[in-house]
Amino acid sequence: MTSSPDSESRKLLRRLRDAMAEDSSGQARLDHIVQLIAGSLETEVCSIYLFRDAETLELCATEGLNQEAVHQTRMRLNEGLVGRTARTGKVVNTAEAPSTRGFRYMPETGEEVFSAFAGIPIQRLGETLGVLVVQSKTARKYSEDEIYALEVVAMVLAEMTELGELTAGNDYVMARHQRPAMLKGSVAQEGVTVGYVHLHEPRVVVTSPFADDPEQELARLDTALDTLRVSVDQLLAGAQSGSKDQIEVVETYRMFANSRGWRRRMEADIASGLSAEAAVEKEQSTARTRLQQVPDAYLRDRLHDLDDLSNRLLRILTGQGSSTTELPSDAILIARNIGPAELLDYGRKLKGIVLEEGAVGSHATIVARALAIPLVINVRGITTEALTGDHIMVDGEQGIVHLRPDDTVKAAFTDKVAMQAEAQTRYATIRDLPATALCGTKVSLHMNAGLMADLPSLPSSGAEGVGLFRTELQFLVRNQMPRRAELVALYKRVIDSAGGKPVVFRTLDIGSDKVLPYMKPNDEPNPALGWRAIRVGLDKPGVLRMQLQALLRAAEGRPLHVMFPFVAQFEEYRSAKAELEKAQERERILGHVLPEAVHVGAMLETPSLAFAPRKFFEEVEFLSIGGNDLKQFFFAADRENERVRRRYDTLNVSFLSFIEQIVGRCVTTDTRLSFCGEDAGRPIEALCLAAMGLRALSMRPASIGPVKHLLRRSNLDEVKAVIDTARARGDQSVRPAVMDWLRNRGG
Ligand code: PEP
Ligand code: MG
Repeated sequence: MTSSPDSESRKLLRRLRDAMAEDSSGQARLDHIVQLIAGSLETEVCSIYLFRDAETLELCATEGLNQEAVHQTRMRLNEGLVGRTARTGKVVNTAEAPSTRGFRYMPETGEEVFSAFAGIPIQRLGETLGVLVVQSKTARKYSEDEIYALEVVAMVLAEMTELGELTAGNDYVMARHQRPAMLKGSVAQEGVTVGYVHLHEPRVVVTSPFADDPEQELARLDTALDTLRVSVDQLLAGAQSGSKDQIEVVETYRMFANSRGWRRRMEADIASGLSAEAAVEKEQSTARTRLQQVPDAYLRDRLHDLDDLSNRLLRILTGQGSSTTELPSDAILIARNIGPAELLDYGRKLKGIVLEEGAVGSHATIVARALAIPLVINVRGITTEALTGDHIMVDGEQGIVHLRPDDTVKAAFTDKVAMQAEAQTRYATIRDLPATALCGTKVSLHMNAGLMADLPSLPSSGAEGVGLFRTELQFLVRNQMPRRAELVALYKRVIDSAGGKPVVFRTLDIGSDKVLPYMKPNDEPNPALGWRAIRVGLDKPGVLRMQLQALLRAAEGRPLHVMFPFVAQFEEYRSAKAELEKAQERERILGHVLPEAVHVGAMLETPSLAFAPRKFFEEVEFLSIGGNDLKQFFFAADRENERVRRRYDTLNVSFLSFIEQIVGRCVTTDTRLSFCGEDAGRPIEALCLAAMGLRALSMRPASIGPVKHLLRRSNLDEVKAVIDTARARGDQSVRPAVMDWLRNRGG
């Protein structure tokens, strides 16, 4: 190939397009295409191999090799240079194929005479569909320009393959997105659910890969890049008040959006005959292949950013994928990641959520939990594997996602869902009965809430009230600090909808993982141990005062429960309570009606508070054990860190004995005590907590049924005896003993 690569590949693409326009069968088109490529590149052989199944490639068309080998020659992914190209997703270009590592001789093709070999992966969005191969007798390496021209052609082939224009008869490639797939992730919100995929950011389909007029395509690209830059600048402006990480991400976006290299590569693609959107997709595909091979997490994140930008650019160019698509019924949302406000927009219409990334402690997770929507995170590949409308089953107990499940999986899953539904019906029959154990001990069950959307669950769950209302959620899902009047209205609605049942409002617990988008984040080495919750409230009391005032007003004379989070020592509780008293006094002076009673309590989330002076226990009206935090500090194991968060069992004897001590102190001083961490909603844990003396538990509404069911069928004295025996024996955790006991007594 001697002429300029641009014009050469453009000519080639034009011929390809003409070939595609012919009204012929898929095979005839493939044959025509390989002839065209071989002729244009003046190389003796051009062949196309496509995947037959996940492990096998098949020769589907050739110019130059024996025609009898077509659809006969097959090779495994781990065989030959073709296999190597497909496996690695990288170009193999060698002058001396027979002496190159991995070469496999296939006599039926008659390829022994060919020395030079170049294999180019046919890829779409990082997924390899097949391999385009050129071979020649002369021992020469194909030039960079030739390889580039072939890459452009491979890109078009991938598009045509995707559109089914080349693959009639190849069920495997045709059915790429029809096969069942099982993907694994981590559980962020439990629950088992079935539905249909709704992509938060739908894939863009490039329907016209070719373009005749490069000038016009360049102009389109320029305009689209300008629009992209403006939107990224807006993002950056919005992120200025966000966390350091958020700003960093957006700044990298901006850097990419202005990247000359990225633009130059796309310009070259356009010059070679691709449309602007095909050029964007070609570069995106290359980046995706790199992404899959980069071990470094930071670099991978940056490549993800580029991928996101390419998606935005594609949407601008094609006008596709603005999220206006109708939400199907039984929608299961699939996204790379999602913000809490966006998630709230979808609200309860979703049956489940699967995220490619995400974190257990992210705001989206907090919202999903509040809405009780099953959520599986860290599911690699889900955004590329899933297509809108795909049937999907989400196992939020195991962290497994079944995409386009086959009949066996469907049957097993349907059984699981049916069992759950059956259990729900069973729980509904005991909804209005007390959680009284067989020994006669009554345990009060309350629900945790944080959004207005939670309140409808109060009557249906059978909860006696709201044991923990996380007020920070309202702050987290907004872009601006809510005003006092808004808070008054919200808290009033919450109290109204509780219909006389008590609601324990916990004052703002921000800091640590809960960073408000509009508050300057603090650069803290250990945010969980840092400036958070009541520490912020006492040091900068403005927001705390506003919140207390809003709560007092919202009560409109009714009783009010206020709880301070993360109290580590007596003095903090006293200071916080003093703020509340001052607020009451101000309200009185202003002539507002005061609540008929104000009950004040604290969260016990730090081990230190368990050892506070007796006077503290006498003064505080009620305490609630925040088991999530208490456990993390007790075992020194970060609740957000996947590696350690499940390492220590809640039923570890040390932890249970610690809980027992706290119960003991509260009994002596007659202080009301409850437990409101996630463990309260796990039946076995709840049973053991009750056996240790807890008489009030607060949990997700969906857990109330299962917990009540187990408590009503158990004798707490017997459970306590089992725990004591296990402790005396030196067991590390009482779980095996309790499980055995449950099994032996029949469930
Ligand atoms: C806890 O720590 O157990 C708790 C209930 O509070 P949060 O999960 O909001 O930190
Ligand atoms: Mg906590």
